[in-house]
Amino acid sequence: MKVIHNYSLKQLNTFRIESVSTHFVEINSIDELLELREKELFKNNKILILGGGSNILFTKNFDGLVIQPNIRGIEIIKEDSASIYLKIGAGEVWEELVEYAVQKCWGGIENLACIPGRVGAAPIQNIGAYGVELDSVFQTLTAVNLKNGEQKVFSQDECEFGYRTSIFKTRLRNEYFITDITLKLKRIPVLNLTYAALDDYLINNNIPDPAMKDVFNAVLNIRKTKLPDPNKMGNAGSFFKNPLISKDDFDNLKKAFPQIKSYQQKDGSFKLAAAWLIENCGWKGKRIGEVGVHEKQALVIVNYGAGDGRQIQLLAEQIMKSVNEKFHIKLKPEVNIH
Ligand code: FAD
Ligand code: NAP
Repeated sequence: MKVIHNYSLKQLNTFRIESVSTHFVEINSIDELLELREKELFKNNKILILGGGSNILFTKNFDGLVIQPNIRGIEIIKEDSASIYLKIGAGEVWEELVEYAVQKCWGGIENLACIPGRVGAAPIQNIGAYGVELDSVFQTLTAVNLKNGEQKVFSQDECEFGYRTSIFKTRLRNEYFITDITLKLKRIPVLNLTYAALDDYLINNNIPDPAMKDVFNAVLNIRKTKLPDPNKMGNAGSFFKNPLISKDDFDNLKKAFPQIKSYQQKDGSFKLAAAWLIENCGWKGKRIGEVGVHEKQALVIVNYGAGDGRQIQLLAEQIMKSVNEKFHIKLKPEVNIH
């Protein structure tokens, strides 16, 4: 296990923000993690688990120990006539896992193509895209309690998954190190084409009867045209979560803003498209120095190159203020701010 001191995290976060961590170590197995826990380095430092850094904003240097999970491996642990149960190491790359599943024709995560980051972070915010969320295929995960070193298997219920959230973002924030997850994929895929963008793409490309691979390719192509590539322009995807509001609040808002973009949820509440709110406050495409709001997707804050985390945070605060003033809606960051 190699510990590096004063380590630059610039290439390890997709905002490409410079931040130096006092100590940095990569973990290749659970045993290595348990070994690390015994060291003074672990006991005397603040800990940050860093996956692919695609949902993190650094606003300063990190005074502590950054641990990057590099636990690899994709293993079939059970299969039957309908399903494949895959156990995947936290350090696997999510995008590669999706590609692998699509090649094998195992259904369930094709709509989650092209989401950067590592497998271990996927449960943290119950990643979701195009009408599919991780919890629809999730079985269990294993995690190590950072305080006492105990390993625990979390069931679906214990993870308390919600819309872009889980217990690891709320009550157990920063308390567990996820080491692997188990997913249940379908041998006969059931395609989810509920999102108009996806359905429109398939129709416009003359694919009336899509296979899973077509859906995967459609997601890839739509995302390429709409989202900035972090290798060319720093960003962390959607900076804010879409707000969920009650029917009463929605009815009032709809009276004042009849065009408002919304989706009714199963529980009767309404999800507002945060991008619509931000765009309607005039932020889309706006640039302030080295940071700005992406011209094609108002939910995405970008670093044009030399921006720093504080500038991004200030821009986010201005956006939140203007959305609150105009719509009386408090946007909440989806990105983890450090
Ligand atoms: P990191 O950013 O490294 O970490 C995120 C959080 O998880 C941190 O709090 C970290 O401490 C914690 N964490 C990481 N690994 C572990 C672990 N093993 N154990 C415990 N805690 C851990 N998200 C979506 O939901 N849907 C999308 O469609 C989507 N699209 C995106 C598109 C782009 C271009 C970008 C840049 C981001 C997008 N995201 C999306 C956000 C992001 O990719 C996901 O949230 C992803 O799961 C983050 O993975 P990561 O490994 O980069 O996590
Ligand atoms: P889009 O298709 O333009 O839709 C705009 C918003 O409307 C999305 O936020 C989406 O909510 C919602 N929406 C659209 N159709 C819906 C439906 N049929 N039912 C319920 N809600 C619907 O969105 P986009 O920006 O191009 O993104 C496409 C997908 O990729 C979305 O699912 C989005 O979440 C995901 N994505 C996520 C990130 C991230 O960092 N979290 C970054 C890029 C893209 P949801 O966001 O709840 O799906």
